[in-house]
Amino acid sequence: MGLVRIDVEPLLRPWTAQLATRAVVVEQGAVACLPGLLTALLPAGRWLLVADPITWSAAGEAAAAALHREGLEVTRHLLLPAVGVPVVVAADGAIDALAERLRLGGYRAAVAVGAGTVNDMVKLAATQAGIPYAVVATAPSMNGYTSSLAAPLQQGVKTTVACRPPVACVVDVDVVAAAPMRMLVAGLGDLLSKPVSNADWRLAHRVVGAPYAPAVMDLIDAGAALLEGVAGRLPRRDPEAVGRLAASLCISGLAMGLAGSSAPASGAEHLISHYLDMTHYAAGEPHDLHGCQVGVATLTTAALYEVVRSWAPRSLDRADRLARHPEWSARALEVEQRFGSLAPAVLPQARQAHPTRDELARRLDLLSTQWDDILAEVATTLRPARALAAQLRAAGAPVTYAELGISDDRARTAVLAARDIRPRYTVLHLAADLGQLSHWVDRALARGPLLASGAVGAA
Ligand SMILES: [Zn+2]
Repeated sequence: MGLVRIDVEPLLRPWTAQLATRAVVVEQGAVACLPGLLTALLPAGRWLLVADPITWSAAGEAAAAALHREGLEVTRHLLLPAVGVPVVVAADGAIDALAERLRLGGYRAAVAVGAGTVNDMVKLAATQAGIPYAVVATAPSMNGYTSSLAAPLQQGVKTTVACRPPVACVVDVDVVAAAPMRMLVAGLGDLLSKPVSNADWRLAHRVVGAPYAPAVMDLIDAGAALLEGVAGRLPRRDPEAVGRLAASLCISGLAMGLAGSSAPASGAEHLISHYLDMTHYAAGEPHDLHGCQVGVATLTTAALYEVVRSWAPRSLDRADRLARHPEWSARALEVEQRFGSLAPAVLPQARQAHPTRDELARRLDLLSTQWDDILAEVATTLRPARALAAQLRAAGAPVTYAELGISDDRARTAVLAARDIRPRYTVLHLAADLGQLSHWVDRALARGPLLASGAVGAA
């Protein structure tokens, strides 16, 4: 068998004019072709190669050696955890310091070698310093490599910040296939959210008129098609399967940039994962890799959609629902109690997400009169929770909150509170609008153990 190479170029060709990312290379041995690729795409002069100790040994050292062999002026910058913290965190201070080094050192470009954190830090620092960068992936763990969004920790709160996408994204399949297994299955979890996050995207468009970019859907579908048959081959680190996973992640990141928002790849399941991250940083509660959390949360939101679909407009008591809708002042108190020290950061988001009584009345009327039509549109991308669970299980990915180290109580709180941390409309906001949030969430969560055992029958 020849070397694995996943050619994404034909998929991206229709978008060349809109994409700032000029090259996405997914192949075995790709690190060796870095010099040719990067000299063609990055400005000549000094480059800063940024890694952490783990990603330095995974690919940084080989990348630096390849670049030095061609006489390129590349300096190594190792990111180390802050004192008293076990891992590097993409926090404000550390990003500013890296941007300062890029500026003061007269660097013309940066090369990120790493996954989530290293990638986010370089994205943000290069954007601050106003220079281009390339990324060399070390794990197929998330779709942020090619995205124009980063998720740094600002004053203890995970936020989404716009930034430059990379000029080039290089995935050496040999490197990413050797990443910890948890990172491989995390990438799958992040991508398996797509059918459900797309349902949220369509729902938001229908109910609150959120921008929707149907043209990007073709690219998203093409990226998702790459995942066919991949899950079951991940446990043996099959290079072709890992390459397809990585390529699909790259496409997903680019689609977010083309849609002008993370909406194509991030719905309610991402809010639940963000909530788990926030409470991890604020209160030291356990958390897991982004994609592992997203995978489990996707099973919850997919199950929630299954519950939602049984709602009948004739069951709505409109006057009663409107009378029970709290004023913002009452909701604000609830948010403050629930979020404690995180409340100042969450309140502005929750306020934006909270409809006025008039707005709620408009939504209820729309939902009652167009329910079947809205459901039909939303269902075009949805997949049954049990089918998604089967894929996660085939890959050996977590399928329950317990497998993420998260108690039933904390999982329930996360699902109920998640709608407050971003104003983006999702199935959680829909359930709240209909006055059914806690009732439906309990029903959706009750299906979790069944999905884990694979014992669930028809939806
Ligand atoms: Zn994600």
